[in-house]
Amino acid sequence: MLDIQEIRSQFSILNQEVNGKPLVYLDNAATSQKPNSVLEVWNQYYTEINANVHRGIHTLSQLATEEMELSRRKIQKFINAKHDFEVIFTKGTTEGLNLISYILTQKLKKDDEIIISYLEHHSNIVPWQLLCERTGAKLRVIPIDENGILQLDYLDGFLSEKTKVVSVNQVSNALGIVNPIEEIIAKTRANSDAYIVIDGAQSAPHFTIDVQKLDCDFFVFSGHKMYAPMGTGILYGKQEILEDLPPFHGGGEMIAVCSFDATTYAGLPFKYEAGTPNVGGNIALGDAVDFIKKVGQENIQNHENALLEYAQRQLLEIEGLKVYGEKAHRTGVVSFNLEGIGISSDVGMILDKMGVAVRTGHHCTQPIMDFFNIAGTVRASFAVYNTFNEIDLLVEGVKKAQRMLS
Ligand code: PLP
Repeated sequence: MLDIQEIRSQFSILNQEVNGKPLVYLDNAATSQKPNSVLEVWNQYYTEINANVHRGIHTLSQLATEEMELSRRKIQKFINAKHDFEVIFTKGTTEGLNLISYILTQKLKKDDEIIISYLEHHSNIVPWQLLCERTGAKLRVIPIDENGILQLDYLDGFLSEKTKVVSVNQVSNALGIVNPIEEIIAKTRANSDAYIVIDGAQSAPHFTIDVQKLDCDFFVFSGHKMYAPMGTGILYGKQEILEDLPPFHGGGEMIAVCSFDATTYAGLPFKYEAGTPNVGGNIALGDAVDFIKKVGQENIQNHENALLEYAQRQLLEIEGLKVYGEKAHRTGVVSFNLEGIGISSDVGMILDKMGVAVRTGHHCTQPIMDFFNIAGTVRASFAVYNTFNEIDLLVEGVKKAQRMLS
């Protein structure tokens, strides 16, 4: 059993009032709070080390480099990558997906196909649309049913020698649906030579990730959703694929030799890390991994699933409340609307007055909202520090909103 109060004591930010009420933070799918240990490491970097990495002979620069490379190795272990140089530091999932779609440009031609799903965040849609514009390739979208479940029969029909990329998320941020990525990867491998990209923004904070077992080509996620600072993220790519593809940004750090005649590129991971990285943030990301490991990924998942179960049961007792997405396939998120109340932000504002922070709107997934013919939902999303009492306060707030708005 987890000692949630002890865990909460590691998050000073949670110990405050918002609008005169104790803060109930249920917007973790947007960004999680950061434990004090992570903030201390970040602060320590700036107060004791602050130096640029990889280029300095002086002591602080070497220390910064060592700490950041140690963090890279922690992340390598966290996702079970074969090599530490397959772990590229980015600003987050969005940058990772844009990077991949850019470096694949030369690999696609007119009428090739890119497969994504209806459940994607805009950052796993728009970069592929831009790639289609650059190359003349076409986007194919795996549809969902009314429970938010991917219709994989369509994937079978889509896959062919024309398929060059399959890019899907492991967990949907809008609905919390866990997608069968193992099955998607197996079908893709069996029927095409496509690059397989997994958006792990909503799975890395909750699940054990094993990129070798998954056999995906790329796996991307954001640090700030898994207890690390904003502006941090990871792109994992298989060695042979990253070595074969061209760089993304050009600049310092990513060259072997720079001359006006012929510039050559550095080896991995530096080929994809042009410019000064977010050193303090990247080091703190390694400490966020330590935090997750210490609490235990299975413990985190069990606790969050218990919260989800409890929240769903209570919310569904409210007459006229509709939850989106099949519960058996969901994790960490409950997305809902109240009948007759078309504007989810009205509910969000009343909850905010009660100290309850949730997200409202389309959650950067407009196609899902269009599918359900709604403008948005109210989304409560959980992290390891949330309590059952906080769910009670959420439910109380939703009932109050319903009384006030109907
Ligand atoms: N993909 C999914 C599934 C997400 O939930 C998010 C953010 O909510 C993103 C991508 C984009 O992440 P970021 O804004 O950290 O780049």
